[in-house]
Amino acid sequence: MKVNLIHFITLLILGSQFSASAEAKLKLVTTTPNLAFAAKAIAGDEAEVESLLKGMEDPHFVDALPSFVLKAANADVLCFVGLELEVGWLPKVLSKSGNAKVQNGGKGFCDAGSTVEVLDKPAGAIDRSMGDVHSSGNPHYEISPRHLAQASKAITNALSETLPNKALLFESNRLKFVAEMKSLEAKTQEKLRRAFPSAENAQILEYHKEFTYFLSAYGIKSLGSIEETPGVPPSAGRIAEVALEAKNLGALLALASTHNPQKVLNRFAEVSGVPVVVVATSILLPVKPEAYAELQNNLAEQILTRAKKK
Ligand SMILES: [Zn+2]
Repeated sequence: MKVNLIHFITLLILGSQFSASAEAKLKLVTTTPNLAFAAKAIAGDEAEVESLLKGMEDPHFVDALPSFVLKAANADVLCFVGLELEVGWLPKVLSKSGNAKVQNGGKGFCDAGSTVEVLDKPAGAIDRSMGDVHSSGNPHYEISPRHLAQASKAITNALSETLPNKALLFESNRLKFVAEMKSLEAKTQEKLRRAFPSAENAQILEYHKEFTYFLSAYGIKSLGSIEETPGVPPSAGRIAEVALEAKNLGALLALASTHNPQKVLNRFAEVSGVPVVVVATSILLPVKPEAYAELQNNLAEQILTRAKKK
C-alpha cells in the first residue's frame, strides 16, 4: 500500500511537471493556415501554433464558431490577416473570448496586415452600394511570398512583446524566413520568366482579386476581376461584357480559387473561350513545412501549362 502511495505521488509530481512544461509554451492562434505557416517559422519551439480555418473555407465568409471563441480565449497571441478580410466574423470571436491579451491594444493582438505594403487602396469614398469592398486595400497578400514575409514582421513584434527575453531569437527566425521567401520568389520568378519574357504576353484575369499580389510580384498583368462587386456573383450582362473584353485582349486565362462559384466560372469560360484555372489559395491543416512552396509552385505550374498550350 505504501509503495503504491509513493508510486502515485511520483506520478502526480511527474504529471504536474509535464503539464508545467507544456504550459510554458506560448499559445499562438492564427486565423488562416498560411499565417500559421509564417507564425511557426518565427516562433520556432517557443509556441504552439494553431489556425482557426482549415484552408478550404472562403475566409471572408465563415461563422464565428464556439470552437474559435474557445481557442481565442486560451491564446497568448492571435494573428489575423487584417485589412478587413475577417471583419465579418473575427470581431465577434474576439469579443466573446473575453481574453484581454488578444483585444486591440493587448500584447497578443497581432494584425499581420499592418506591416504589409498594401495594394489596391481605394482612392475615393467607400459605401455599401459598392459591395464587400475592402476599404483598407486588398487583403489577399498571403499568396505572395514577399508580402507574407512582410507580414511576419507584425508576428515577430507581437511575439517579442509577449516574450521579451526571446526577442532576439524571433528576429533571427524572421530574417531566416524572409530569406526563405526571397529564394522561393526568385525560383518562381525564373520559372515564369521562361514562359513570359515580357509581361505583355501574360494577361490574366481574376475572378475575385485574390491573385493581385501574386501577379504583381511576378510582373504579370492583371486584367481585373470577373466580379463587378466583390463578394457578389456577377450578372449575366457583366459576364458577357468581361468575356468579350477578355477575348478581344487575347487573355491567357482567368484564375479562380476553389471557393469561387463553379457555375459562374463555367459560364465565363463558355462565353469567352478563355480557360479558367481553379487553384488553391491556402495551404491545408496540418501545416507542413513544405506546403507553402508547393502552393506557390502549383500556381506557377498551372499558369505555365496554360501558356504552353497557347
Ligand atoms: Zn477579398
